[in-house]
Amino acid sequence: MAKIKFTKSFTQQEPIPADGIVLATNIMQTGRLHRYNLEEGEEGQASMLETEFSTWQEVDYCLACTSGGYAIQLALRVCGVKPGDKVLANAYTLAPVPGAIHNVSAEPVFVEINANYHIDLEDLATKSKNSGAKYLLLSHMRGHIANMDRIVEICNHEGIRLIEDCAHTMGSKWRGIRSGNFGLVSAFSTQTYKHINSGEGGFLTTNDPELAAKAVVSSGSYMLYGRHGASPAEKIFKKIRQHAPNYSGRMDQLRASLLRSQLPRLEKNIVRWNVLYDLLFEGLSNIDGVVIPKRHEKEFYVGSSIQFRLDKIGINQIPQFVDECSSRGVELKWFGASEPKAFTSRYDSWSYIKNLPVLPITLSILDRTLDMRIPLTFSSEDCKIIIQVIQSEIEKFQD
Ligand SMILES: *Cc1c(COP(=O)(O)O)cnc(C)c1O
Repeated sequence: MAKIKFTKSFTQQEPIPADGIVLATNIMQTGRLHRYNLEEGEEGQASMLETEFSTWQEVDYCLACTSGGYAIQLALRVCGVKPGDKVLANAYTLAPVPGAIHNVSAEPVFVEINANYHIDLEDLATKSKNSGAKYLLLSHMRGHIANMDRIVEICNHEGIRLIEDCAHTMGSKWRGIRSGNFGLVSAFSTQTYKHINSGEGGFLTTNDPELAAKAVVSSGSYMLYGRHGASPAEKIFKKIRQHAPNYSGRMDQLRASLLRSQLPRLEKNIVRWNVLYDLLFEGLSNIDGVVIPKRHEKEFYVGSSIQFRLDKIGINQIPQFVDECSSRGVELKWFGASEPKAFTSRYDSWSYIKNLPVLPITLSILDRTLDMRIPLTFSSEDCKIIIQVIQSEIEKFQD
């Protein structure tokens, strides 16, 4: 029998909705792309987007900015991280996270993960006590949400400020509460590969008026902060406006208009993602030698990617398995590779960080972990083909 091949791209997005294209075209016709370049009485796209996102996210304040990484960096700054400070972070994450910590001249203290891809709570408790860190930058890596009640408890107990990186969890919830609403400040990304797409872009959210005001001014508002949506009262700005440096990183009108057309469709898209995810979860879990952790019942996820481990083939065979799948059109990323590849890298490859720790549990989990994107351009039929390809390739290694 001829081998089945999968032919769709793992990096193909859906088009921008038609109303977003109209809105963006109208803005281009005016030439007024800058968020503060408005006519008398006109409300800007970026400002409306901030209001709409804050309503959707159920948070008081929202700043739209240039990228998710920028939002993280700014979040660290407004939370008070100073050069030399230590910042706890789960070791399973992506390069913009340690990059943001480095950008504010702080030092990451990496915490182990567990077999569910969550930050390890025991290691977190220990390092919260012993490391001297006063901040936790928690990235909900690949959409896996740890027990947020326990994390908040540990942070409160040790006087640690929690910053959430929600680049993979826009729309996810723990115990019915949106991811991003547990920490003091949170960051989201609207980069193409996340849940809404403006090419590049990000949000910073918080319920703290003073931190919100600092973030707005530092994003480069000059004294035009009044042109922001979902932002604090004038009197808060008056207090801080001459004390917040301008780290220019504003969202523009064009990107904001693209996002405004996608936000109302996000809930529907989450359902579509989860249909695909659940199909893949079920099909892949049934393959002998594939392990996928079950989600906690309190976790509501957005299945825009799937992670699984191969526990019956040798680690040294995994690169060959990945190559064979790739030759049949199924693109898997291996987190065990010693050299970083494309978007994938492991914490021990960030050699610019001093005293990189050895985290044996994290390494042993990532050694066997494969990661696959699930774009919305896939159908249920596509998922079935992917499952068949993976199954037949695994069988070759097991007999
Ligand atoms: C994408 C990503 C970011 C940064 O987002 P950008 O918008 O690309 O700067 C941060 N953290 C994680 C985990 C990401 O995947």
